[in-house]
Amino acid sequence: MAKLSLGDLDLAGKRVLVRVDFNVPMDEHQNIVDDRRILASIPTIKKILAQGGTPILMSHMGRPKGKPDPKYGLRPVADRLTAYVDAPIKFARDCIGDEARMIVENLKPGEVLLLENLRFHAEEEANDAGFARQLASYAQVYVNDAFGSAHRAHASTEAVTHFMPQCAAGLLMERELKYLGETLDHPRRPFVAVLGGAKIAGKIDVIERLFSKVDALLVGGGMMYTFYRALGFELGGSLVDAERVDVAGRLLRDAKARGFSLVLPQDTLVANAIDAAAICKEVLVTDIPAGWIGVDIGTKTMADYAARIAGAKTVLWNGPMGIFEIAPFRKGTEAVARALAQATQNGATTVVGGGDSAAAIQQLGLSDKVSHVSTGGGAALEFLEGRELPGVAALTSK
Ligand code: AMP
Repeated sequence: MAKLSLGDLDLAGKRVLVRVDFNVPMDEHQNIVDDRRILASIPTIKKILAQGGTPILMSHMGRPKGKPDPKYGLRPVADRLTAYVDAPIKFARDCIGDEARMIVENLKPGEVLLLENLRFHAEEEANDAGFARQLASYAQVYVNDAFGSAHRAHASTEAVTHFMPQCAAGLLMERELKYLGETLDHPRRPFVAVLGGAKIAGKIDVIERLFSKVDALLVGGGMMYTFYRALGFELGGSLVDAERVDVAGRLLRDAKARGFSLVLPQDTLVANAIDAAAICKEVLVTDIPAGWIGVDIGTKTMADYAARIAGAKTVLWNGPMGIFEIAPFRKGTEAVARALAQATQNGATTVVGGGDSAAAIQQLGLSDKVSHVSTGGGAALEFLEGRELPGVAALTSK
């Protein structure tokens, strides 16, 4: 990797400031509903402890608008950490100030400190240098393990790095960069990408970039109907982004001119309403009757996509194939998830972009049957667009 990683650092006797992503979903009683993000950073915390370092953890949680809001407090996360890390976990009720500083100065080797939500201060999102300097003063080394926040230049991901001599990637960050970066930059071929999700709008740059990287791009989800509109078809009540029809047409023409395999579904599941109790049937995408809504890819397409995935050595998947939140419209997404799991078993490298496809593969219990599931939604997409993430760019080069 081009950036410093944990293994490159001498941490013995040092305090290590670690940006993690503990932005976990909570219910109205401050109970953690899903602690996968906490779990994802445990290897980094343990490795720092094993290397003799003292981790000082910092994170954002929700959108408290720059002032303290008990709804977004991180105390429950500190409590949960005790279940996963065999070390005393301290908590500072404010991430800066005298109390935090005192706790930091009294930290003993082998202890872990979690600072309260960074976003209780507006300076965090403003990438404020003074605020970052205070955080930096706690430690001798900085580690960023929050890939999901790396696309934002905030004080804890960007400004802070200007005040630290060494800024390294944590294990989770390293893994994300390896799979979304190296694996996709130097893929074993054939390399197939599957793109779905509601809108084409946020994916145009990704699609264009993938043209020069992948051997085939399989389209699903709501965006497929905009491509079909560009080809002149009526799509009933399906989701069509009227403002992006021209762009979709251009992408299709570009693909054709380059001899690039931009694959659209042949058939689709249509429903008379977006509802689990709706009446459904399968039709060709070119034959959607008036009033019917496209809600998933059809069975012919599932088989076609599964076969193409099976023939690939590298697979990237981002975005569900249909409205997977509603059980009867989930089969296409399931078929793609299962095809990825099978391909992995047969030796392919398979990467799932974050967000909804990560949620879908988790729901199916197949997360550990693929090579990598990204923890970053927006960050993963920006990375795939080829943009430099400020939180990554700011890390020290090897
Ligand atoms: P995105 O955030 O663009 O990745 O979109 C994810 C969302 O796309 C999910 O909430 C899906 O329900 C939605 N989606 C997938 N297929 C369709 C479809 N055919 N019509 C409307 N929404 C869809």
